[in-house]
Amino acid sequence: MAYINFININKYFGENQVLNNINLEIEQGQLVTLLGPSGCGKSTLLRCLAGLESITDGKIFMDGVDITTADPKERNIGMVFQQYSLFPNMNVTENIAFGLKMKHMSKTEIAKKVAEAIEMVDLTGKEKAYPSKLSGGQQQRVALARAIVTKPKVLLLDEPLSAIDAKLRKSLQTSIRKIQKELGITSIFVTHDQDEAMVMSDVIHLFHDGRLEQSDTPINIYTNPRTKFAAEFIGHYNVITAEQFQKIIPGAQNTSENIAIRPEAMEMSLIPFRERDNFHQFEGKIVSHLSHGNVLRYHVEVNGIILEADVLFRSYYLYDNGQKVYITVENRNCLMVS
Ligand code: ADP
Ligand code: MG
Repeated sequence: MAYINFININKYFGENQVLNNINLEIEQGQLVTLLGPSGCGKSTLLRCLAGLESITDGKIFMDGVDITTADPKERNIGMVFQQYSLFPNMNVTENIAFGLKMKHMSKTEIAKKVAEAIEMVDLTGKEKAYPSKLSGGQQQRVALARAIVTKPKVLLLDEPLSAIDAKLRKSLQTSIRKIQKELGITSIFVTHDQDEAMVMSDVIHLFHDGRLEQSDTPINIYTNPRTKFAAEFIGHYNVITAEQFQKIIPGAQNTSENIAIRPEAMEMSLIPFRERDNFHQFEGKIVSHLSHGNVLRYHVEVNGIILEADVLFRSYYLYDNGQKVYITVENRNCLMVS
């Protein structure tokens, strides 16, 4: 049995079903991500695990024990939320020590554990600072220290970095992952950001409208989305109908309703590519382009169908709008999705 098991979880708020027959297993020591658009039920599932919300039916097991109706205090779970939710009238040390005091631990023991936690989250020197004097990133480090200092069985992180600006966010992603691995703490991370899910996770569980759409490692889910939703959410795939695919590549074999092709799986050139086995080749016309920093994303028209193709921004050369281009893509990069 896995460390955490969600079995046939259904959850209604009144008439509104927000979790639909969720079956999900989490292995001990892993960091898994619940990924999906806003409102798909990610926070609700976390809250059910923490005991902050009851489930309508189904069972939850943790470490072999049925905790479906256990009191939240008995579950031994640490949580970090998007809103930093620190005690404003307590300094860093006091905020982190709070949970240990509740456990009636000795003063020396508390001091030792708090010092370790502060070092771990890289806040040495800020021991006496109050939350109002800390940046958002620093406050979230305090919240993380407070969550791990009691050595919970599971750490839940609900969009902890969503309010933090892009650059700082990357460094906090790295910190959280490093600490999680060092402690070997089983963690569930919630985000609506697919890039964040890709860099953080051992396993991604993709949610869509209260259902589990697909579960896999970041690389597998990125390279093998099974559905149109997964393809569009995870990798900005071009998703076209089988009919459109036939228009682009006459005679191509496929048995699916939709074909998904990643923008970076298409290679462009002003001159035809050498014919190769297992590659498709077709002609298109550049319609427009956008710079995404290190990548240029071109819109290319092929027999009336617009495809997006990415090119690494290596040099100053751009294809001009209206220019004819040749495009090649490996057959196996044209994925069938439902
Ligand atoms: P996510 O975290 O993926 O954005 P949530 O789990 O917060 O999604 O919400 C899932 C759905 O449940 C949404 O439609 C939301 O409006 C609804 N919902 C969440 N909490 C409550 C509540 N306490 N009462 C009623 N509806 C709720
Ligand atoms: Mg949420």
